[in-house]
Amino acid sequence: MTRAKQPKPVHQLTAAQFEAMFPDEHACKAYLVACRWPEGVRCPRCGNPGVYDLKSRAWHWQCPKCAPNGYRFSHTVGTIFENTNKPLRDWFRVAHLMLTSKKGMSALRIMRFMGFGSYKTAWEMCHKIRTALVENIEQLGGIVEVDETFVGGKAHNRHWDKRDGTGSGIGSGKTPIIGAMTRKGNVVARVIDNVATARLSPNAE
Ligand SMILES: [Zn+2]
Repeated sequence: MTRAKQPKPVHQLTAAQFEAMFPDEHACKAYLVACRWPEGVRCPRCGNPGVYDLKSRAWHWQCPKCAPNGYRFSHTVGTIFENTNKPLRDWFRVAHLMLTSKKGMSALRIMRFMGFGSYKTAWEMCHKIRTALVENIEQLGGIVEVDETFVGGKAHNRHWDKRDGTGSGIGSGKTPIIGAMTRKGNVVARVIDNVATARLSPNAE
């Protein structure tokens, strides 16, 4: 096993890395597609890998197998980003803000930071992200990595070198934008630079 000098079991982007990685909407879409379908786009309904690009619409595909006239879907199908009027880049940034600020971030602060005109918008985005984290991580399309060793309260007993430094489970081999942990149904998210120094117990805040 190769040990990284600076172990980062949960890969979190800094603000500067975020900017570099997601300069525009196109980059966000490409990233979502790569996270969702690392081995190529598959039909979300039937799993068929033989989908084809919809010539008339970018970021849309058609599966000829599971519907008489072909099932059409986009990169956001089945995610919380589907059918929203906010660009993916806003979603990514809100998720990043929520999960990288040490004490979390209120919808009000998100609204101000993002320059949203409405509190409701900010609140709904936060709510959707939080709900997906707790109930169905798949709905985040793989952009958030849950490090399963943090689930169930074992993490603070572990030293980083007892873990597989390359990470495992969701997001393996990818570069998730944020890390998140769930504990007793609550989202516990921190910037984790080094697991050895991380304090994950809610009492240690
Ligand atoms: Zn299909």
